[in-house]
Amino acid sequence: MAVDVTDEAPDLQPLSPGLYIVATPIGNLGDITLRAVDVLRRCDGVACEDTRVTGKLMKHLGLSKPLWRYDDHSEHRDRERLVNSMRDRAVALVSDAGTPLVSDPGYRLVNDCRAEGIPVTVIPGPCAAIAGLTLSGLPNDRFLFAGFLPSKEKARRDALTDLSGIDATLVFYETAPRLLKALAAIGDALPEREIAVARELTKLHEELRRGLAPGLIAWFEKHPPKGEIVLLIGPPVETHSSVADIEALLWEALDTLKPSQAAAQVAKATGEDRKALYARALEMRRE
Ligand code: SAM
Repeated sequence: MAVDVTDEAPDLQPLSPGLYIVATPIGNLGDITLRAVDVLRRCDGVACEDTRVTGKLMKHLGLSKPLWRYDDHSEHRDRERLVNSMRDRAVALVSDAGTPLVSDPGYRLVNDCRAEGIPVTVIPGPCAAIAGLTLSGLPNDRFLFAGFLPSKEKARRDALTDLSGIDATLVFYETAPRLLKALAAIGDALPEREIAVARELTKLHEELRRGLAPGLIAWFEKHPPKGEIVLLIGPPVETHSSVADIEALLWEALDTLKPSQAAAQVAKATGEDRKALYARALEMRRE
């Protein structure tokens, strides 16, 4: 359903010139903010990653504006032209989804605008990393967003080892075809750390799964993942292994594993006694 906003409103005030960084929905189009719609309605044009993707959003909003393809690897001359045009034009920067610059183009453009004294402002809104973090329920007082893990096995392992000492929840973007490999690498490098997989956020098949690597691998081997994924790793274990946390880990592991396997997995992760955990897992099953 299209939003009831058109660019033919009689009281349309032009925006002052400059760069407007505009966040757009990560799935559910209802998540567009009122300010985002207002800026897209009043700007002179939109710099975007893919004119087809942004064209669909504009159509949904009932808007029609010039769309200019932009990525940070665009020719320097193209960027210079775009920046210069903002001396007397208001340009909205959007990415295909979510917040521009967060694993998306815009970093160079923002810095070039600053260097040229062009005003830059932000219209905040959806961001998959933040949506995944909030839905995961993992500790969020400290978190580190680390973009995409490298796709090559050794580089991925090295990246995880580099990040392992950081006392914070780690947040990554991941793709469905690479999820199992990423989970296996986390299981090897950080076996004791709790993981959350946030998939298809804000969409029809939104899913959140939490647990240790073996349980999640077992689940996603049976249910091959599709769509878009935020992968999160909880902070180092000593900061969250209270009795309640251990019970929660056991509950999660029992979702996909037998009591003996669940107990072994949680014992490995927490250093707790495997037999005691097995006895508790059997009780939980009975409960
Ligand atoms: N700038 C965007 C943002 O603020 O969310 C992220 C762009 S990045 C190129 C795309 C990645 O974001 C996807 O590969 C996926 O990891 C994550 N992502 C985007 N939309 C998502 C969604 N609806 N659910 C889960 N992850 C999503």
